[in-house]
Amino acid sequence: MSASVAPRLPSIDGLLRHPACLPLAERYGRESLLASLRQLLDELRFSVLNGQLSAIEISPDVLAGRVGERLAQQQRSNVRRVFNLTGTVLHTNLGRALLPDEAIDAVQMAARYPLNLEFDLASGKRGDRDDLIEGLIRELTGAEAVTVVNNNAAAVLLTLNSLGARKEGIISRGELIEIGGAFRIPDIMTRAGVRLHEVGTTNRTHARDYEAAISPRSGLIMRVHASNYSIEGFTARVPTAELAELAHRHGLPLLEDLGSGSLLDLTRWGLPAEPTVRQALLDGADIVTFSGDKLLGGPQAGLIVGRKDLITKIKKNPLKRALRVDKLTLAALEAVLGLYRDPDRLAERLPSLRLLTRPQAEILAQACRLQPAMAGVLGEPWQVSAVQALGMIGSGSQPVARLPSAALCLRPQVSKRMRGRCLLTLEAALRGLPIPVLGRIDDDALWLDLRQLDDEPAWLAQLPQLQVES
Ligand SMILES: *Cc1c(COP(=O)(O)O)cnc(C)c1O
Repeated sequence: MSASVAPRLPSIDGLLRHPACLPLAERYGRESLLASLRQLLDELRFSVLNGQLSAIEISPDVLAGRVGERLAQQQRSNVRRVFNLTGTVLHTNLGRALLPDEAIDAVQMAARYPLNLEFDLASGKRGDRDDLIEGLIRELTGAEAVTVVNNNAAAVLLTLNSLGARKEGIISRGELIEIGGAFRIPDIMTRAGVRLHEVGTTNRTHARDYEAAISPRSGLIMRVHASNYSIEGFTARVPTAELAELAHRHGLPLLEDLGSGSLLDLTRWGLPAEPTVRQALLDGADIVTFSGDKLLGGPQAGLIVGRKDLITKIKKNPLKRALRVDKLTLAALEAVLGLYRDPDRLAERLPSLRLLTRPQAEILAQACRLQPAMAGVLGEPWQVSAVQALGMIGSGSQPVARLPSAALCLRPQVSKRMRGRCLLTLEAALRGLPIPVLGRIDDDALWLDLRQLDDEPAWLAQLPQLQVES
């Protein structure tokens, strides 16, 4: 083994016995230590042969130190907690909704023990995993029946494929949207085997446009929440109730993809109005699909609710098996839905709603409180101020609406030419902290929106480690 090591580099055997390496073997295991040492020595041997490094410079102590760093790095999890100070609350790239304690407890239980996932405890017979949450969702939405899949994209795909394969799906041109990450409604319809029949124009679609498109080839009418964009000005959209009446007159089902789909009227908490699932069903939509981890505030999931006969058909589709949710999701979802039974306390107990409704004055007071610490760490070249700011709900809910919030605004006091580089350097340094801090650059400043800064002690504790080279 040691014969393969170039002369004058320490030998593997020698290193393994070195006092600084013994605790590493204890901590990470002999195999990992050996692999890391081999890899490091190979790299060094290469540098020595290239003349970039002299073997004399490499002591066993230095090597042990470097191997220790590598092993620590390897052991660090790739899934890491971050501080989301971007101002976007339901941030898709940062994991969307945070779960309440009730859901975290339920996930732990489901992870640790066997459970009645598909087992009916009353009859002792095989059960259906949807039954675990069907009663609650029916109660909260007024739906006749329910099924749950992996996410809302899956819900849309499964519904379209189950109800419209080899037939035409009629949809307004104003609703042929892309939701990000290559989820485009026209593509999903095609993949689901539904022939796209687009009607109307981008800004205006009338009932007569839908009516003229209906033929014996029609399978369904689809309506999609515009989510991440807004059409304003000279616009026309057929109300759901009218569209449902039209669809039913021709014996077609109306599907409504609500995207976020709130269970309760959010204006009650001073938030912008979002269509509720219950209202869409009352208006006559036959099937409504929505996400579990957007405004609902739960785990990633796609909920399909509506008419019993259609849900039965959807559940019989073999794709359902491929798209079903796992036990951890169901456990979390049930716990989150349970909180909706007590709307008066929902804003205290559901983290996403609590964060969305934090008063601006409270966030601004927090910014003022933290300003001196941030200014102290950044020093002379930066102007740090506590200011009002505007955030967003995120995840396609209310793209135009802004949440009045507050931020630490970090502005480099350097020439205009240097500002961009300065901001990127600070952004990278914040990302390099043990718990990475993510803000946003806008208007020649780095903004840390504090709406979501819950764990102030942890944030403050790591601040002295911030190292910004100027
Ligand atoms: C977000 C969204 C989807 C996709 O939902 P996921 O849960 O992210 O899969 C589909 N349709 C609409 C209208 C959306 O807003």
